[in-house]
Amino acid sequence: MSRTYHIRTFGCQMNVHDSERAAGILETMGYRRSDEVADADLVLLNTCAVRENADNKLYGTLGHLKPLKDEHGTTIVVGGCLAQKDGGAITERAPWVDVVYGTHNLASLPRLLAEADSTELPVLELVETLETFPSALPAKREVRHHAWVSISVGCNNSCTFCIVPSLRGPENSRRAGDIIAEVEALVADGVVEVTLLGQNVNSYGRDLDSRPLFADLLRSMGTVDGLERVRFTSPHPRDFTEDVLHAMAETPNVCEHLHLPLQSGSDRVLRAMRRSYRSRRFLDLVDRTRDLLPDAALTTDLIVGFPGETDEDFEQTMEVVAQARFDQAFTFQYSPRPGTPAADMVDDFVAPDVVAARYQRLEALTRRQSHDAHAALVGTSRQLLVESPSKTDDTRLSGRTRGNHLVHFPRGTGEVAPGDLVTVDVVEAAANYAIAGAPTAVTTTRAGDATRAALARGDGWQLGADAVLTPPVGMSTPHGTTASGGRPVLPVLPILPA
Ligand code: SF4
Repeated sequence: MSRTYHIRTFGCQMNVHDSERAAGILETMGYRRSDEVADADLVLLNTCAVRENADNKLYGTLGHLKPLKDEHGTTIVVGGCLAQKDGGAITERAPWVDVVYGTHNLASLPRLLAEADSTELPVLELVETLETFPSALPAKREVRHHAWVSISVGCNNSCTFCIVPSLRGPENSRRAGDIIAEVEALVADGVVEVTLLGQNVNSYGRDLDSRPLFADLLRSMGTVDGLERVRFTSPHPRDFTEDVLHAMAETPNVCEHLHLPLQSGSDRVLRAMRRSYRSRRFLDLVDRTRDLLPDAALTTDLIVGFPGETDEDFEQTMEVVAQARFDQAFTFQYSPRPGTPAADMVDDFVAPDVVAARYQRLEALTRRQSHDAHAALVGTSRQLLVESPSKTDDTRLSGRTRGNHLVHFPRGTGEVAPGDLVTVDVVEAAANYAIAGAPTAVTTTRAGDATRAALARGDGWQLGADAVLTPPVGMSTPHGTTASGGRPVLPVLPILPA
């Protein structure tokens, strides 16, 4: 009887990517996924150190897991950014945790679990530099049609509110050939869409001898047969160069969607955040994007209440957001992150009621903009990549436009499945999604066919057991370290704030 695992992922897409690798490692060790935490022999928490109350979430969850440990001997594993930050403090506060590993040594999970099995004491291992690129590890994706592909890890910037550089280290780019090889393997496995991941994709390749440019990497995605869609996150406005816009415009499978984190519209606050660009530069980039990619959708991240933010600063944020007209915005109330420079600006902290009031106003503005963006789709015909059954209506399926807009449409007689591409006429808009009529055209894909077959077998639409994809042999280890000479790397591998 194979042992079961349950993974809980907190935070950004890079963590989702790493969790798919953790799942791949565990499945390669013979574990099978359990959807119910209570039924799992092993529970792995892949933690985040950015999102609000990250600590409370972790220790709260560990508190809930203790009874499982006491009653069933469940193995409890904590990994990711908060593990890298807190380390031994986790086993001090929760001595029922078995294994703690960090952001650089996911590849060591099998060895650490073996050590934990042979000792009563918790096993803790944190390393300061990346051992193996997570991408070199087997992956168990959630869905057949999409894959996260990390192109670099770490960040060389030093935004004063962000803890990522101290937890994920300096930028480390993968070799372009490895990225393309992985994408080709994914497409051969039925993947239709990939999202290229990096804390700052624009600085991709600067640490490699050959200095490949991100724009060239995007263009190379256009040479992968069968790859329908390419997305990427996160770019940094300071490093964003026009050649990337030209590569997007000239490479058919690169989607017309750009996530460009502004964070604040006040130059004074941007300086205090150490964001190294100003609002004029950002708006010029928005205008240039709309010149070269007229149909492009623009989304962003915004922080309200950064220490020292005045009413005037906030009005400047409202002004820049109004001019940029975003399709969607992820807005956050500033929360101090221990270990970041901004967390020490205690005397400048903005009163919570003031932050909440500003947040409400900004939310209302970005919500109106999002509604306008979805309303602009009404009366147009759009291609969707079908993602899943609608979460709110059984008679509908949900998909995304190339602009990443969420659209629900009638399921019809069931010949359409997640992974297929459909063309629909958009008939209605809401703040965060649109409604369309029945498909006017359907392009079935291998991912869609596999999903249809799974549904016909009575399996779910998501990827089931043993769907582990092992990367091509010789996939890169951090440059400067050698791969294991052709032998498969033993399974041992994260808006993405940006
Ligand atoms: S916010 Fe983004 S760019 Fe800034 S330090 Fe964090 S990860 Fe790097």
